[in-house]
Amino acid sequence: MTPLTLEQLQQYDQQDLLAHKRAEFTLPEQSIYFDGNSLGAMPSCALQRAKDVLERQWSQDLIQSWNSNQWIDLPFKVGEQIGRLIGAGSGQVICCDSTSVNLFKVLSCALLMQPKRTVVLTQQGNFPTDLYMVQGLTRLLGESRCQLVEVPEQGLEQALTSDVAVLMLTQVDFRSGRLLDIQRLTQIAHEQGVLVIVDLAHSAGALPVELDTWQVDFAVGCGYKYLNGGPGAPAFLYAAKRHHAQIHQPLSGWMGHKAPFSFSPQYVKSDGIEQFLTGTPAVISMSVLDAALQVFSDVSMQQIREKSLGLTRCFHQLVQQQAALAELSLITPLKPEERGSQLAYQHPAAYALCQALIKRGVIADFRAPDILRLGFTPLYLRYVDLWQAVEILSDIVVSKEYLKPEYAIRQKVT
Ligand SMILES: *Cc1c(COP(=O)(O)O)cnc(C)c1O
Repeated sequence: MTPLTLEQLQQYDQQDLLAHKRAEFTLPEQSIYFDGNSLGAMPSCALQRAKDVLERQWSQDLIQSWNSNQWIDLPFKVGEQIGRLIGAGSGQVICCDSTSVNLFKVLSCALLMQPKRTVVLTQQGNFPTDLYMVQGLTRLLGESRCQLVEVPEQGLEQALTSDVAVLMLTQVDFRSGRLLDIQRLTQIAHEQGVLVIVDLAHSAGALPVELDTWQVDFAVGCGYKYLNGGPGAPAFLYAAKRHHAQIHQPLSGWMGHKAPFSFSPQYVKSDGIEQFLTGTPAVISMSVLDAALQVFSDVSMQQIREKSLGLTRCFHQLVQQQAALAELSLITPLKPEERGSQLAYQHPAAYALCQALIKRGVIADFRAPDILRLGFTPLYLRYVDLWQAVEILSDIVVSKEYLKPEYAIRQKVT
């Protein structure tokens, strides 16, 4: 393979159909951001909206804002916008709560739909909160109603036996970046009478997702990762329309009631996706997410995916071109159809490397025990950024700068 040059990368930037999107973000100068998979960067329109919500809507319009500024419609409106990015037809996505809480709701629903089955099957190494939410349900319901079974990804198909109620999958592995074939797994699960829940934390806004076409039953995902909704942004929940009539989610708060302002003592669930609401929406953060989603209005997920694959391919090629980086071993699959929008490298000193990188303005993160993780966000990363990042990484390794004691100190958030 001919080596990748800086000139070549500059040319890719010139040809990049998404290049103009970077100007829509407010980014720190002198840093290269590889953490959009953990906390997306700030679209400038989000700041404008936050100011408007505080300066005008809240302070001046006060409680009338629920109607006049459509606060009450935010969960549905934001859900519709997210729905377009994940292949969900109208009325199936709602914005609310956190991914963890939404998992609780859909897991409970799915288990209630499967009274004769007990197992929640998932892939080994799934994100801890997904596992913890099932463990919590086991404690609540007892092992005769809910049992978590984790199997290696290659064993999922075989493990789909008649006692499995739910197949709970995370589409893109948060450590390795491995991408699962959800369409295929959903089809196999359905053939065995198993319902499918998909966690789209590292998928929504990063790659094309087709929930309706794939016939997924339920899905959840984060607002603050590739959707750029800001720290602690509310999450989203998808429930296929074919289930709306017969399901019951247990967090039956007043916002999920058919007529919240009738203040009736008896809970009657809303007919549509609103039945998944619980309490009052987080208006400020949901407004910010609503504004942030505008950056997706004139781009397609196919365009984003193409650039994402280009960025990860080029970055890894640059790493391979540096003899000094031979100790970094890629655990992300090289096949495009098997990787999400991140690269994960194993290295014995991954934590120190990451800290040294951050000190030099290359923002990546570390995942225990030994993974240096880089997320690639096509809306604001340039191809030339990859060159600079790999140069800095190589310099840190060659100079052994990462061995400085200050880089060994563990922070609370890694
Ligand atoms: C980031 C992430 C979450 C986060 O859940 P929160 O409730 O928002 O903290 C859940 N699942 C997966 C797979 C994630 O990557």
